[in-house]
Amino acid sequence: MKTVESEVMEAVEWDELSFSLTPTRSMYMAECDLGGEWRPGELIPFGDLSISPAAGVLNYGQGVFEGMKAYRSAKDRIVLFRPERNARRFQASAERLCIPPLPEEIFMNAVLSTVGDNIDFVPPLGKGSLYIRPVVWGTGPVLGVQPAPSYTFVVYVSPVGPYFKGGMRLLHLEVTKQFHRAAPRGTGNAKAIGNYAASLYPLKLAKAKGFDEILYLNASDEACVEEVGSANLFILSDGVLKTPALDGSILPGVTRDSVIQLARERLNMEVRETQVSVSDVAQADEVFCTGTAAVITPIGEITTEEGHNVITDSVGPVSRKLYDLLTGIQKEELEDPFGWVTPLEVY
Ligand SMILES: *Cc1c(COP(=O)(O)O)cnc(C)c1O
Repeated sequence: MKTVESEVMEAVEWDELSFSLTPTRSMYMAECDLGGEWRPGELIPFGDLSISPAAGVLNYGQGVFEGMKAYRSAKDRIVLFRPERNARRFQASAERLCIPPLPEEIFMNAVLSTVGDNIDFVPPLGKGSLYIRPVVWGTGPVLGVQPAPSYTFVVYVSPVGPYFKGGMRLLHLEVTKQFHRAAPRGTGNAKAIGNYAASLYPLKLAKAKGFDEILYLNASDEACVEEVGSANLFILSDGVLKTPALDGSILPGVTRDSVIQLARERLNMEVRETQVSVSDVAQADEVFCTGTAAVITPIGEITTEEGHNVITDSVGPVSRKLYDLLTGIQKEELEDPFGWVTPLEVY
């Protein structure tokens, strides 16, 4: 183990890491038949899978995923952040896609053992994190549109660098009426793979116009904003923090929930989960988006069909405070009164 570890330490260029895939030693795999029980799986070498061209996921998109991070903390140990929330959301997403939900113990075991077996791929403190990707697919063959007869659960990991290199940068979002992310009572509140396939084309057009991301409106009447591609949105107006209420088409982010609690309990702020209009965003004092990958990323400008609005050209004090609190707890530099940080057993 020691020799392998030092080989990896030399092979990975920690300073060159970006948010992209670096293959690691192993991945976890478990299987389940329709209506059947999930059987505990095992670690296997990281590599390609062999599945039928008639697999449910390949033809009808039956799949859901999660995104989490493991990182070295200031206490010189490896930690996860609120992993049980991801386990539960993974179950809820699976249910919506007619995939047998995975028991929480198998999920946690899979995550811990995959991180443990690839522990030497966790970047040094401050150089990034080990991104964890749990994913489940309908892998059994189907021809007609129906749930696949069997399912495969995989956890793979990859070292990643900070999402935005060179520190915090203010994003410029496009508010589009050309596309919607999620329909009312659709799959917007599930981390369903198809949601992301549908987001690629709108994002490609937005990027070609020079925007960083899209701010999506609600599909029913476009009266309020929902979220940013793959991150939740917050605005600060007159000292009140507001975020769009979870109405069924917004993904319930773990970072979103953490920021709400930090603002209420550590900054004694009023937080409202409510409707947020485009003009609320344009007139806000601070705007930021949240997610496991994005952490807390400030937004400086939005452009709507009516025109361009500058919100701010610097990171606001509340955004900065929330960022410092969240990342301080995550890195174990600050006390964790919520019990959010889960240390990995020492391997
Ligand atoms: C994953 C995701 C988020 C952020 O969720 P976190 O649990 O904070 O990582 C927000 N919106 C969408 C659409 C997502 O897929």
